[in-house]
Amino acid sequence: MEHQMSYLQKHPDVTKSRLNTFMSNGQFKKANIHASLYESRVNGSPHVQMEVWAADGQERPTFEHAVKQEFQPIEVDHSFGLSWSTHWVRATLQIPSEFAGKEVRLIFDPSCEAMVWSAEGQALQGITGGNGQDRRVNFVVTKKAKASETKRVLYLEVACNGMFGLGDYLIGPPDENRSFILKTADLVVKQVDAWAMYHDLDILKQMIEGLPKDSPRWWQALSTANAIINAYNAKDSTTLTTGLEISRKFFDAKSGDATHQVFAIGNCHIDTAWLWPYDETKRKIARSWSTQLDLLDRFPEYRFAASQAQQFEWLKELYPGLFARIKDKIKTGQFIPIGCTWIEMDCNVPSGESLTRQFLLGQRFFEEHFGERCLVFWLPDTFGYSSQLPQIVRQAGAKYFFTQKLSWNNINKFPHTTFNWVGLDGSSVLTHMAPAETYTANATANQLIESVKKHKDVAYTNESLYLYGHGDGGGGPNEGMLERLRRMEDVDGLPRVKQAHPNEFYKHVEKTAKDLVSWRGELYFELHRGTYTSQAKTKKQNRQAEFLLRDLELLSVVARSLGKNFVYPSKEITRLWKLACLNQFHDVIPGSSIEMVYKDSDAIYADVLKSAAAMKQEAVVSLFGGMGLALASEATGILVANTTSWPRTEIVAVPGLSAQLGAQQVRKQDQAALMVATTVPGCGLQLVNPTKSTDAVPVSVHRDKDGCVVLENLYVAARFSAEGQLVNFIDRRTERELVPKGQSGNVLRLHDDVPIFWDAWDIEIYNLEKFTTMRATKVTIVDEGPLLASISVEVPIGEGSKMLQTISLSAISPRLEFACDVDWHENHKCLKVGFSWDIRSDFATYETQYGVVQRPTHRNTTWDMAKFEVCAHKFADLSEYGYGVALLNDSKYGYATLENTMALTLLRSPKSPDAYCDMGQQTFRYAVFPHQGSFNESKVVQEAYQFNVPLIQMPVDMKAASSSAMTAAPYFSVTAAPNVVLDAVKAPEDGSHDIIVRLYEAYGGHASATVSIKIGASSVVKTNIMEEHADNLELKTLANGAGKSVVVDFKPFEIVTLRFAA
Ligand SMILES: [Zn+2]
Repeated sequence: MEHQMSYLQKHPDVTKSRLNTFMSNGQFKKANIHASLYESRVNGSPHVQMEVWAADGQERPTFEHAVKQEFQPIEVDHSFGLSWSTHWVRATLQIPSEFAGKEVRLIFDPSCEAMVWSAEGQALQGITGGNGQDRRVNFVVTKKAKASETKRVLYLEVACNGMFGLGDYLIGPPDENRSFILKTADLVVKQVDAWAMYHDLDILKQMIEGLPKDSPRWWQALSTANAIINAYNAKDSTTLTTGLEISRKFFDAKSGDATHQVFAIGNCHIDTAWLWPYDETKRKIARSWSTQLDLLDRFPEYRFAASQAQQFEWLKELYPGLFARIKDKIKTGQFIPIGCTWIEMDCNVPSGESLTRQFLLGQRFFEEHFGERCLVFWLPDTFGYSSQLPQIVRQAGAKYFFTQKLSWNNINKFPHTTFNWVGLDGSSVLTHMAPAETYTANATANQLIESVKKHKDVAYTNESLYLYGHGDGGGGPNEGMLERLRRMEDVDGLPRVKQAHPNEFYKHVEKTAKDLVSWRGELYFELHRGTYTSQAKTKKQNRQAEFLLRDLELLSVVARSLGKNFVYPSKEITRLWKLACLNQFHDVIPGSSIEMVYKDSDAIYADVLKSAAAMKQEAVVSLFGGMGLALASEATGILVANTTSWPRTEIVAVPGLSAQLGAQQVRKQDQAALMVATTVPGCGLQLVNPTKSTDAVPVSVHRDKDGCVVLENLYVAARFSAEGQLVNFIDRRTERELVPKGQSGNVLRLHDDVPIFWDAWDIEIYNLEKFTTMRATKVTIVDEGPLLASISVEVPIGEGSKMLQTISLSAISPRLEFACDVDWHENHKCLKVGFSWDIRSDFATYETQYGVVQRPTHRNTTWDMAKFEVCAHKFADLSEYGYGVALLNDSKYGYATLENTMALTLLRSPKSPDAYCDMGQQTFRYAVFPHQGSFNESKVVQEAYQFNVPLIQMPVDMKAASSSAMTAAPYFSVTAAPNVVLDAVKAPEDGSHDIIVRLYEAYGGHASATVSIKIGASSVVKTNIMEEHADNLELKTLANGAGKSVVVDFKPFEIVTLRFAA
């Protein structure tokens, strides 16, 4: 085509629009680049013949099962459905002879997800139909068709869900009645030069978007694109060659020596469950990773990283052939297992021991199957990072951390990109938050330009990581992304791009960075604050599982050491920990998944709790069977075991034993016999004789002249109004009134709870401004002492909910308990309970994994204000000099403290993505625990532990219960360091008969603890959490058969693992 001028007229905006039109698959597609993209295209019989077999209901049958079924012929426009169903399509392909010598592709668009299988049952590639940006419908049938092709058969496993499930507006609850139309089933041959030109133009277009307007490279990109369009003729393929020559001149200009270096890594974030159930995830993994194997073959420079040991384990079990192919690609270094942990877990709710197990299970899996552990802790999408993670990461043999989630903060911009993250104990990990602020980048030039622009530490380090590839529902990089990256390796105007293992990036930073800044303490996420509360039952089941597994492991270790024939159930315990860790995934335990996922997680927890309880009972029988255990109906006493490491005095309640035991008090609610168990030794036993009188001063309850009810014991007096609020709370030891005049405690408030978008995820600050106070309609005295006094409080809530609260005080403790039973039927409301105390402090103390963090009680700055709702584990505490009050809980995680009022978030009622989140019956407990001395001088950590870990009680025949049989106990003890907690006792993962004991310093000070062990031990070493030898310690033999002991030094908040050799 002739044209007068090959240069650009100075009308840049018009030219920019011209380029957009030239690239658009719309109105002008027959005259622009789209007219040239395919040389040939055929469909229908005889080239593409299809038959289908539909699986029953929501079953997901295997390939082997599916191919044996009866198939029925179908054509394009066939409808697959309904939601979550599976349809196997058998496609018989006859490639036309005129395609000989060419690469032939099948374009298969079922409008939903699918997997391409070979006729022999090899999973080949994932398909994502529909018109989303993650559309992937191209499958390479052959790289070079033969002159006379015989028929080929492929199977397509069509899954009736989209990449993001089946909801409206992304997070809407799934539509269970959707069907999907088979839009396309064509055999095509691509026009190679046209695609090359398309990718070149795409980059030019992106550079025009991202570069500073009017810079030389901006003008050059625009004029290059304009010249290519001028040269183009849809009817003449030689004009493509001309176009490519024009673009080559632009791309041949290289960048300078000091150019920013981007390390690009492909990934396909697969949420282990979210808008789809676990079973669909298993298929998403196979679809996504098989696709990537194909791309790794076609693009040798390409590197792809995948995290979550659980996903690899599923693949190994369900797709062994694919797993073997991935192992081969791991060996060549192209496929990179990453992340350290079992799954990409939430880091707010799981306990310290849970986080430890995530690393222990994950690192061991990676090492066993791929020959090495991970160095990078990889959590691009988790909702906040607790302050003990640096220490745990270090102790798991890793040293780098990656995320980008804090870029979602809705109040403050996080100030660093590459920095040292310093945890509670001073451990530090090199941390990078991708400056492109995404883990699902598209490999575009403008995002690369952003990677430089938004990097906040280029003064110290001139590198960044860039995570690209479709994700959340899987997918990963596509061909276009890889074509673009290949072109952008070294182009003037862009940062240099290298596809590399993330380790290479971190090692490079370690070597070259100067004076990186540090961030100390938690990486608080200023969004998704509702995830401390949503799906209350799941959080409660997790808490129960964590403590049940703790008891199970501790008792099983002791039973193995002392019992003659007890076999430590290590295989089953590992299975249960894997399941508990699975449900800690960053959309499951936070409460942000669809209803289906919680049905799955309920079944998993039921399995874990049932199996753990049964195994715990076996350990109990093995250990205590010779100590006079009796049927409840024949018991004359109770044997009590304490699995915490400090002595406890508590009221024991034994249901159904009142008559024959003649206890001092029978609890009204369940006719349980109450008795005092005095000073039960830590990790030890005590026999309790119910007929023995106690010297405890009785607790009392009465209604006063104002109609208030007063619960009173030796320690405290609590006065409740007729509306159920705590109007006075007096520490009788000092006659100190804890409730300020005009304020109160146990104030139940129903707040509006309408977030901006992320319904199940977000509690927003403005909802604190809008609430109604709930008031009791009935307060009844139930138990009247002498060991336990309790009242029952009925509170109607909102429009259709009600709470029944049992408030109790025992004779022997200042702890005031609130047991709640709620029938919950609200819509976008949130229930909080608040306590105002006459205590002044700028900070409140919140329990976190293996320690505590302090957060402000004021809103001086926007950073303080952003923490209007925070996460805590078993307690939060408000203390001033000399005194404090802790608010304990048995299953809640959302706290807020403003000035002198501490609130606990009890229930939410979001409607997306689970339309029924938390509806129905909910039970939970909280308690207030006043203490003399500030938090550091208190026993709050121990008290909160006790509130969650009841004493184990066993009915016995007092005569048969030989006290001599109890001399083996206490099995463990920790003395000389009240700030050290024994948190876990377990068998080592390597199967040896050694004993692992994990302890931590809980209050933030140094300690020198004496740890004694009474079950056979010959030596002891200090290890990391991977249970590997670090330091020798001296094990001393104690006199009189009291066992052996070791002195262990602790730094503040240090996690110490001891390994005793059997
Ligand atoms: Zn995610």
